[in-house]
Amino acid sequence: MSPIPLSPRRPAGAALETLDRASGSLGRLAGTLLIAMHLSVLLVFVTPFSWSLVALAVGSYVFRMWAVTTGYHRYLAHRAFKTSRAFQLVLAVLGATTMQGGPLWWAATHRRHHKFSDQPGDVHSPVQRGFFYAHIGWLYDRGANGDRTDPVKDLARFPELRFVDRHEWLPLFGWAGLCYAIAGWPGIVWGFFVSTIALLHATFLINSLAHVWGSRRYETRDQSRNNALLAVLTLGEGWHNNHHHFMSSARQGFFWWEIDVSFYVIKLLERLGLVWDVREPSAAALVPTVHAAEAKAARPRDSRARGHVAAALTTTLGPGP
Ligand SMILES: [Zn+2]
Ligand SMILES: [Zn+2]
Repeated sequence: MSPIPLSPRRPAGAALETLDRASGSLGRLAGTLLIAMHLSVLLVFVTPFSWSLVALAVGSYVFRMWAVTTGYHRYLAHRAFKTSRAFQLVLAVLGATTMQGGPLWWAATHRRHHKFSDQPGDVHSPVQRGFFYAHIGWLYDRGANGDRTDPVKDLARFPELRFVDRHEWLPLFGWAGLCYAIAGWPGIVWGFFVSTIALLHATFLINSLAHVWGSRRYETRDQSRNNALLAVLTLGEGWHNNHHHFMSSARQGFFWWEIDVSFYVIKLLERLGLVWDVREPSAAALVPTVHAAEAKAARPRDSRARGHVAAALTTTLGPGP
């Protein structure tokens, strides 16, 4: 998953102007704001504490985590289900409340992650550039995003998505305003600052930790992992090896014990008629491949070893009858 940009503005009216955003690291304003947001978390020490504020922070986190996993990731980046143009816009606006950039930038950056995953060209690979860089450093690296061609033409043809992408800060500030309306200034501190920073780092962990720590069921060309803890924190995104194996699936927890809250909500939305054509892997695609690949890789070594033993026996005992 991929977050936050603010690249220089392009001439208004360019057909796919938002694609340029995919090349941008954080602009100076956004980079400064990200640091300021981190420091703002310290305001909890001078804000009167209450459990209802904690509940606001948790609610703000969970709802927006769902928005980014379902709207930005599974729908916009992967088209894992279909929906109406109106609900598509709702998903884009909700995704932009997470401070993870505009919907087109997010989708373009994420598609590039899958295209190059853990190879040169992957914008946030801990294998290529180390853990810290993959976690947050890449956002400040102006040279990080060389390839501008990753297409989001399917999304950029909607003017309303281009509008949200260009004005990505409106939904974010709107969310801050909602927190203020609910609980005043303490509501901003807990429901916006604390919640948004927690949300950002949980998302970042999919870019960093989910390519380092966990188990692998599928032999993918990257180092993606399945991690139950990350799956709980991110409402299902922690099944990242599953996801890299079958990226267009709306379901990332492939088995009943793999908790995937985002998928449960997608199925609920399907029942309500808000989404349809929800994509899931076939039974054949669920079959683990990592052991088969390991066995295949080991086989030549075994046969080589058998060859060495046979040669050694022949040398020692002489040719057989
Ligand atoms: Zn990944
Ligand atoms: Zn993905």
